[in-house]
Amino acid sequence: MPRRRELGRGERVIAGLWRLRLPLPFPGVPHCNAWAIAHGDGIVLIDTGMHEPGSMADLERAFNQVGLSLDQVRLVVCTHAHSDHWGQAATICDRTGCEMWMHPNHEHGFVHVTDPDSVLARRLEVGRQSGVPESALERYAEHARESPSGIARMIEPDRELVAGVTVDSDLGEWRVYETPGHAPSHVCLFQAERRLLISGDHVLGRISLYFDYGWSPDPIGEFLTSLGAIDGLDARLALSGHGKPFLDVHGHIEGNRRLVAERLGATMAAVAGGPRTALEITPEVHGEPLTEANAGWWLPETLCYLTHLEREGRVVHQRNGDVERWAPSGS
Ligand SMILES: [Zn+2]
Ligand SMILES: [Zn+2]
Repeated sequence: MPRRRELGRGERVIAGLWRLRLPLPFPGVPHCNAWAIAHGDGIVLIDTGMHEPGSMADLERAFNQVGLSLDQVRLVVCTHAHSDHWGQAATICDRTGCEMWMHPNHEHGFVHVTDPDSVLARRLEVGRQSGVPESALERYAEHARESPSGIARMIEPDRELVAGVTVDSDLGEWRVYETPGHAPSHVCLFQAERRLLISGDHVLGRISLYFDYGWSPDPIGEFLTSLGAIDGLDARLALSGHGKPFLDVHGHIEGNRRLVAERLGATMAAVAGGPRTALEITPEVHGEPLTEANAGWWLPETLCYLTHLEREGRVVHQRNGDVERWAPSGS
């Protein structure tokens, strides 16, 4: 069990809205945010933190620090079905009797509870196709089997968070925008009068890209479309799933576009000498060696770039046995 470096903390962002900063057991991602929004004598809770030993105590501590109580939660709204954003939903709903709302394309997250073996089998297959050696896949599988899901229990959403659904609060109405890309179930919430954006993991203060691979046809294309949709809202302040609230939302959206363009360019450059495997391409996309620690994140990301470029007709892949190799189209 990794050492827990910090405890849950709460802070007021503006009147009626609080940031609950909850620890995560990941070295590169030390915490996530849940957002409490006043609604009458209750609270709407956006995201939940991950389920692990002591995680409910962290959430309660964060609430108590700002003079609130978990028992005031009347509704849980999840920005997407990653464990750090909905892992504790069942526990909170059991305790408070409240509803949980989420986008219907949540299979990518629910399958970690309903069929974890298929998730692992699928990841191993992706690794094999990418050219990862069997010995490394075995080590990965062993580690994955020991890792908890971070999800307390699966509960079906009481309401589907599709475009146009609104969430009421003392700060006014928050409107749902579907923003797939980071995850197929991802939504943002926008409070138009105050120009406040709950951006989940779609746009973070520190630009960092992650894409769920294999659950939708083109995560990169979807992400870019979602960036455009959110850019058009002209938000003033973003409240994201990790890190501090940030201004200059447009600048952050531009930063994401630039980074995607850079990585697509690096992918094309790496493929130029092809045919090459995703394992060979990935270090050149990131400018850093692939390690067992980053492979589970970076390989699927590379496959998302390759899939996007293939849909644009710029690369092709060929399969030889288990392994896929990528080359520029027309080469
Ligand atoms: Zn996420
Ligand atoms: Zn997250």
